[in-house]
Amino acid sequence: MNLRLAHLRKVMAAEGLDSLLITQPENRRYLSGFTGSAGVLLISQERAFLITDFRYYEQVKIQAPDFELVEVSDSPQVVLAPLVKELKLAHLGFESHVVTVDLFGSWKAAIQGVEWVPTKGLVERLRQVKDDDELAAIEQAVRIADETMAHIMEWLRPGVTEQQVAWEIEVHMRTHGAERLSFPVIVASGPNSAMPHAVASERIIQPGDPVTIDLGAVYQGYCSDLTRSFCVGQPDGTYRAVWDLVLKAQVAAEEAIRPGMSGAEADTVARDIIYQGGYEGKFGHGLGHGVGLALHEDPRASQTYKEPLGQGTIITVEPGIYLPGWGGVRIEDMVILVDGGCRVPTQCPKVPFIEAR
Ligand code: ZN
Ligand code: ZN
Repeated sequence: MNLRLAHLRKVMAAEGLDSLLITQPENRRYLSGFTGSAGVLLISQERAFLITDFRYYEQVKIQAPDFELVEVSDSPQVVLAPLVKELKLAHLGFESHVVTVDLFGSWKAAIQGVEWVPTKGLVERLRQVKDDDELAAIEQAVRIADETMAHIMEWLRPGVTEQQVAWEIEVHMRTHGAERLSFPVIVASGPNSAMPHAVASERIIQPGDPVTIDLGAVYQGYCSDLTRSFCVGQPDGTYRAVWDLVLKAQVAAEEAIRPGMSGAEADTVARDIIYQGGYEGKFGHGLGHGVGLALHEDPRASQTYKEPLGQGTIITVEPGIYLPGWGGVRIEDMVILVDGGCRVPTQCPKVPFIEAR
């Protein structure tokens, strides 16, 4: 029995839907197991269909045993229209945050006699709480990231470019079990490190440079996300003070986060420490985000996220301080919310500097 489908059907019933169309790729994979890049799920209270084209027929049979394969050589609505009629569907939900105006227009033209009900984030909400299989995949993705960061802190020396560092990271992750990267590796050195999402450039890393590295691996579809900042060689007093403050905020947040706390409250724990340390306005992003099949998903730890963080969810804890023209520091772990607190699978050491060999 597919528990994810069972949970979704309860949600659908509560929303007054007798059926739901799923087109968002991670949602499609989460519910069906199908990893292909094209396909529509039609889910009713009794039945579940996966509509896709010739490229994926064999794959669907293996990956999505709970779904009836509907073969289509044209647009999915060609087969959707008779299906909707046959099943006597009346209230058909669709993912209004995903479906384009064009696609919706073509559905409406082809499929008549149903009430179209926009829904938002129904499956995303289920995806927040990770089951054991998901946790195992994520923890493996975290291990690959941890090992890679440890490797690069040994490997990195002045004279290499940010792009060379990024490539070394990419190769290391791919040769240690990552199926792909969660996102293009961020290697930001010197003043570039003041940009939270700088891309790796041709800049040559100098002795004494601050460096921020943000990387993540994907394992069995699940992402990891890890940031470390350090100086290449002995840091000056300013760097050390900023780094110590970010670490203090990061550790305090990890100690405080527990299920039931709102995303805003979690953010405030770290934000207060950074602001009281004299860096108000220099921590310009939220404390963290959910991670799973998507790199950024709900829940969030930020001032605008007032909902409680649920047990079994995963968020990143990544405070930072960014000083334009100078550089920046960010430290990021992933945490799993468990009864009364959180567990931190990320094991990579936090150090303010590495030797400039
Ligand atoms: Zn990150
Ligand atoms: Zn992150």
